[in-house]
Parts: sequence; C-alpha cells; structure tokens
Amino acid sequence: MGSKGREIIKIEVNKLLKLLNKALADEWLAYYQYWIGAKIVTGPMRGAVVAELDQHAGDELRHAGMLVDRIIQLGGTPITEPKDWYDLTNCGYEAPKDPFVQPVLEQNVKGEQCAIEVYQKLTEMTRDKDPITYNIVLAILQDEVEHEEDLQALLEDLKEMKRRFKG
Ligand code: FE
Ligand code: FE
Ligand code: MG
Repeated sequence: MGSKGREIIKIEVNKLLKLLNKALADEWLAYYQYWIGAKIVTGPMRGAVVAELDQHAGDELRHAGMLVDRIIQLGGTPITEPKDWYDLTNCGYEAPKDPFVQPVLEQNVKGEQCAIEVYQKLTEMTRDKDPITYNIVLAILQDEVEHEEDLQALLEDLKEMKRRFKG
C-alpha cells in the first residue's frame, strides 16, 4: 500500500489483516447461509422471509467486497481458498437442515449476533488508530444490527400469527 497510508495506522497491520480475513470468512459463510436459506425456506410468510434473506445475502456479499478491498489496500492477501473459510471463521456456518421459517430465522439471528460482536470488537480496536478501517467496520456493524432486527421482527410476526390461530 501507499507508504503514507500505512504510516498513519497506529496498530499492527499484520494483526489487523488477520482479523479482516477472519471477518471475510464469516461474510462468505453468512452469504451462503442466507442464499441457500432463501432457496429452500418453507412455511408461513415465505415471501417476506425470502425477500429478507435475499437482501441480507446481497449485503453479506457486499461486506466481503469491502473487506477484500481494504485487505488489498493494506498490502495483504485476501483468502483465495474456500477451504480456509472454515478454519478462519469466527461465527461458523449453520446449515439450514430444517427448512421451516422459524429455525432458519433463528439460525440467522445467531449468526448476526456473532457478527455484531466481531464488528464491535473491530470498531473498538480501530477507533482513533485506523480511521479508514474504522469507517468500513462501522458501516458493516450498522448493517448487521439492522439484519438482526429485521429477522427478529419476522420471528415476532410469526409468533403473533401462531397465537392468533390458536385462539
Ligand atoms: Fe455481513
Ligand atoms: Fe448480516
Ligand atoms: Mg433487511
């Protein structure tokens, strides 16, 4: 990367690169979990759930791109081998083995809650030390917070529907 651009970073760049690659592994796994979830999900409110899962898949893929661009700018090498996703991930991957809306939404909520923790740590680490990376991880954190809320709102609607059908 540019020498002045590197000079202004007040944290260890190699350590940061490792964390950004770990987040990149998370984003790819999250992307696929949403993408395949949107294809196979079944049950009530399917249309609304599919639309949300598809939108989130697109966001996770966009996050992967943001991380890769910064990794390259920092002089690092982004993950080139998908096998490494499983080794590097913080949040793992939960296959939607039960395609019913509720478990699919719950699995994705878990993923978002993990992502929020990951990006919260990255914003804390880069605040006042690396403003460029800070801006990127903060923008991603904002999306992950929105994702969690979107999914929990759908789960609430689902619960309310169940309650009313019972009564
Ligand atoms: Fe993401
Ligand atoms: Fe997300
Ligand atoms: Mg959404």
